[in-house]
Amino acid sequence: MKQQTQALHAGYDKDSQSTMAVPIYQTTAYEFRDSKHAADLFALKELGNIYTRLNNPTTDVFEKRFAALEGGEAALATSSGMSAIFYAIANCAEAGDNIVCASQLYGGTLTQTAHTLKRFGIEARFFNVHNPEEVHKLVDEKTKVIFFETLTNPSIDVADISAITKIADGYNIITVVDNTVATPVLCRPLERGADVVVHSASKYTTGQGLAIGGILVERKGLLQKIKANPRYAHFNEPDHSYHGLVYVDVPLPLFTLRARLSLLRDLGAVVSPFNSWLFIQGIEHLSLRMREHSKNAQMLAEFLEAHPKVKKVNYPGLKSNANYENAMKYFDGGACSGLLSFELESFDAAVKVVDATKLYSLVVNIGDSKSIITHPASTTHQQLSPAELDACGVPAGLIRISCGLEDISDLIEDMKQALDA
Ligand code: PLP
Repeated sequence: MKQQTQALHAGYDKDSQSTMAVPIYQTTAYEFRDSKHAADLFALKELGNIYTRLNNPTTDVFEKRFAALEGGEAALATSSGMSAIFYAIANCAEAGDNIVCASQLYGGTLTQTAHTLKRFGIEARFFNVHNPEEVHKLVDEKTKVIFFETLTNPSIDVADISAITKIADGYNIITVVDNTVATPVLCRPLERGADVVVHSASKYTTGQGLAIGGILVERKGLLQKIKANPRYAHFNEPDHSYHGLVYVDVPLPLFTLRARLSLLRDLGAVVSPFNSWLFIQGIEHLSLRMREHSKNAQMLAEFLEAHPKVKKVNYPGLKSNANYENAMKYFDGGACSGLLSFELESFDAAVKVVDATKLYSLVVNIGDSKSIITHPASTTHQQLSPAELDACGVPAGLIRISCGLEDISDLIEDMKQALDA
């Protein structure tokens, strides 16, 4: 099945009422037929619904559909992108271990990996996404994950996915890749050698800024990398919290199984059935939207590049951009999603433009149908000094745009009046 057909049909066998729309199973729990049925479900002798913290029929469709879009084997939905990232890492690493991450990360992921995981005894080591060779110097026998974003937020870099996954394979280390900004429509990291993909579903999945959620997807055949691999002993040894289950011996996708039975069960960052339903609605037209977002962003980037007040435009679809080659290699049809940024002379010039635009909403989010404008130096990065801002690639005059689906001539006209004001 082609991806757009999967987006409409994957994972849903019409229920007893033959409803065209996937029903919302708004329930906490499920009745067992009898004690044997209950015992068989708990023992995994039979698969089925127990309690919505573990599984839910609406969420099951969302998971199966998203796994199909990514070309993966199975998925696990969570209550946010941050919890999906945490579960993917915590499924591999524990106190005393380390993970190797690209430095160019979403701010929340940076704080989770560098600070919060540290408090749990997991050390994060960082490499420049433009120089994957640095990974060799960082890994050791305690390295459990190599983590990076395909299209980075907010720095808008494109990772050389195959180069990084090849290095990880050389050490038999699991790669976890955040594909939020590119989405599976534009980029499929599992086909490029990644092991696990994570997403913030809060962005392009509904495309309307309707709900917070996350998802992780495991690739087909991940068992071969994990089985008898000393880095991942907990998949190979009995899980005493689940009556001695050995994950590599269960004929089910083991990464999501363990994340569900252990992490979701015990930590409980579960997505609500209603949010899963919203994500299912959004997925139906995700591919149509991503192509339009990309087209609009490309045209806005070209307009900005030609404007005399703009010092620099960061958009991988521009030939002048350092990421152009990777974008053409990894993004379907060279479409580069809706995220771009541009630099003005100063902090004050940026604030003036942000306040003068009328169509762009001043919001710290991305991936909405409505265009969004953000000035990192006065919001998300305001605690940093000018020197620190420059060092992390966020100069004081930088403006980030999440280009929406408005008519591009209106978006350009509004930006032009704001720049010329
Ligand atoms: N990953 C990326 C690339 C993001 O941009 C974000 C949020 O902006 C997240 C993860 C975190 O997702 P959530 O806000 O759903 O927890």
